[in-house]
Amino acid sequence: MGKLDIRSLRKEFADGDQSIVAVDDLNIDINDGEFLIFVGPSGCGKSTTLRCIAGLESVTDGEILLNGDPITNQPPTERDIAMVFQNYALYPHLSAEDNIGFGLKMSTDMSAGEIKRRVDSVAQMMGIEELLDKKPGELSGGQQQRVALGRAIVREPEVFLMDEPLSNLDAKLRTTMRTELQNLQQDLDITTIYVTHDQTEAMTMGDRIAILNDGTLQQIGTPLECYYEPNNRFVAGFIGSPSMNFFEVEYTDSALVHEAFRCDLSEATREELRGHEGALTLGIRPESIELAPGESTAISAPVSVTEPMGESTYVYVDIGDQTCTVTLDGERVVEPGSTLDITIPEAKMHLFGPTGETIKS
Ligand code: ATP
Repeated sequence: MGKLDIRSLRKEFADGDQSIVAVDDLNIDINDGEFLIFVGPSGCGKSTTLRCIAGLESVTDGEILLNGDPITNQPPTERDIAMVFQNYALYPHLSAEDNIGFGLKMSTDMSAGEIKRRVDSVAQMMGIEELLDKKPGELSGGQQQRVALGRAIVREPEVFLMDEPLSNLDAKLRTTMRTELQNLQQDLDITTIYVTHDQTEAMTMGDRIAILNDGTLQQIGTPLECYYEPNNRFVAGFIGSPSMNFFEVEYTDSALVHEAFRCDLSEATREELRGHEGALTLGIRPESIELAPGESTAISAPVSVTEPMGESTYVYVDIGDQTCTVTLDGERVVEPGSTLDITIPEAKMHLFGPTGETIKS
């Protein structure tokens, strides 16, 4: 069992006479066996939250419960929680075997034979049996991270905390390790919180993602919920790659009016927007923009740059004084300097109010 509840968590750091609020009134219930991703821009409080859960940081206010029991003030060693760090944090003078078994040796009265049996079994699971007598300095980054994961797994904790564990690996190894980690998490069925600012990791690895900004939770949901139904403009802009395009528009009684285009709206959408006349933000994902060559309602947008990505092509066009990204399927030859006729389909529009709140998604 590893049900983790974070209740009204607040963490302030002293900064001279002032204080920095790193985490502000955070409430999250994490289910037993769940794989939850924390994602958000640098400084949003991801690592601090993880460190509070691990007990490496005291909390200013709030509570953390593991299987219903408060652990907020327990020392880290008494929490049944293992953490994996970005920089592996291995002991350089110990072999891989001793690094993996270190925690068991220090904090349990397990016999040397039992520790060896468990270390061997984890080493086999991680595919590092051949490396057990090597020191961290003799291992590659990927091998060191496997040892660090092994050290966390061997403890058989209730909860795993992983702080950007793959970010020091090269792109190819990262992709392999991502899949390995997902499989491992599913096999072990241990509640896991995984911090990243990598879009692909956030969208593909977890059951749910928690999106943080400025120490506050912006949204928690499945990756697709957050993608299709963002709670606010921040989430809409943060989730998805390339990012959503935003246009400041004026909503009059029947249309969204931008300095460079106008979108007449259907009656159903007008009904949805009733009471929101005035300044709004229109959001449209690059892949939702459609081509409409020669159509009278199309926006004729000069192409500035194209980026062939293989399975798709990113085309950057100018609309008014801003750049808009359009994702086209497959490889397309679109010459910079040419014009692309595009439309913004109403069904795919996201609209946000003056404080960034979602009005339509
Ligand atoms: P990153 O993705 O860059 O690692 P993060 O989302 O993990 O960022 P945190 O490291 O949790 O962010 O930091 C949140 C805020 O708390 C930041 O403003 C940071 O400067 C501040 N902070 C973190 N640790 C300390 C500390 N020990 N003392 C003072 N301020 C801190």
